Amino acid sequence: MRKQIFLIIALTVTTISCGPSQQKVEPTNPEATEVWQPKPAKVAINGQTGIPSDAVILFNGTNLNAWKSKNDGSAPKWTINKDGSMTVKDKTGDIVTKEDFGSVQLHLEWRSDPNNTQTNQNRSNSGVFFQGLYEVQILNNNDNDTYVNGMVGSIYKQNPPLVMAAKPTGEWNSYDIIFHAPEFDNSGDRVKAGILTVFLNGVLIQDHFELLGSTEYIGYPKNKAHGDGPIILQDHGDMSGVGFRNIWLRKL
Ligand code: MG
Repeated sequence: MRKQIFLIIALTVTTISCGPSQQKVEPTNPEATEVWQPKPAKVAINGQTGIPSDAVILFNGTNLNAWKSKNDGSAPKWTINKDGSMTVKDKTGDIVTKEDFGSVQLHLEWRSDPNNTQTNQNRSNSGVFFQGLYEVQILNNNDNDTYVNGMVGSIYKQNPPLVMAAKPTGEWNSYDIIFHAPEFDNSGDRVKAGILTVFLNGVLIQDHFELLGSTEYIGYPKNKAHGDGPIILQDHGDMSGVGFRNIWLRKL
């Protein structure tokens, strides 16, 4: 009998300690689940350009002051056009931002060249690299076949886009890209993969893709530890004729 009473008491205590009494009490008023602080910072949107007030402007049509040549660090030789765009100047090399960045939200607009009728990877090939290592591909794939992990909107040699959402040849496309930088520990091991989410013309084409490492032309992705790095625009070196305009980013 004493043993039975002890068991009943033990069961009762266990039920109470693991039961609803340990769970959060369900609020009975709406204010209980409201959070008022801290307030998010205010960002104003420019009525003419649509650029947020906290953006770093990388190209607005007037100059290439935010950029340098990847080859020798000199002023870029790419062509600034009268319509506020710029065009890759063939074989003058990639251009890289003077400033290094970590995680960012990037906006850029690009168009392919109707006069470029080459095939496969040579039809208006460029690309935007994050931290100098991770390429989101730019290519004219209108009636131009190539390997899908190298087509427009791919994470180069790592992941094809979810859909092909590019506009007809010669029209302006927009990329809106969220890049979260990879993280490395003190011994140089990658402890967190970089992540890319990409919209092409407002269409989701890369959904929180975890980078396997650097996007290599030849060979497998590499994961050498690194810190912040530049944004790079690619000169593929084959008369790509790719144009760019309205490039800005927000640091995350
Ligand atoms: Mg490319």
